Amino acid sequence: MTPTDLKANTEAAALQISWSDHDTWDYPYHYLRDSCGCAHCIHEITGEKLLDPNSIPDDIHIKSMKLVGNYAVKITWSDGHDTGLYTWERLRELCKCHACSAEA
Ligand SMILES: [Zn+2]
Ligand SMILES: [Zn+2]
Repeated sequence: MTPTDLKANTEAAALQISWSDHDTWDYPYHYLRDSCGCAHCIHEITGEKLLDPNSIPDDIHIKSMKLVGNYAVKITWSDGHDTGLYTWERLRELCKCHACSAEA
């Protein structure tokens, strides 16, 4: 479960991820930002969502991405949010492609 390619698809406003064992899927920026699991967005103890989706700008996009070890990518968003870590496992959970939607 490792991406073979991560590419910002500016036209689609999505992060395009290709996997070794799964089809390529475009993760819409807004959806990805909204799914951030850091301590600012999700309460560490209660699991309550602290992030207000309405606070995410419509034109949210990725300013920069950095691979963390061999297991995650850290995204710096255009709204200044840079504490979110997206592990490969988490990204696969977030995938809403046809195959994954059918499974769920
Ligand atoms: Zn966050
Ligand atoms: Zn999928």
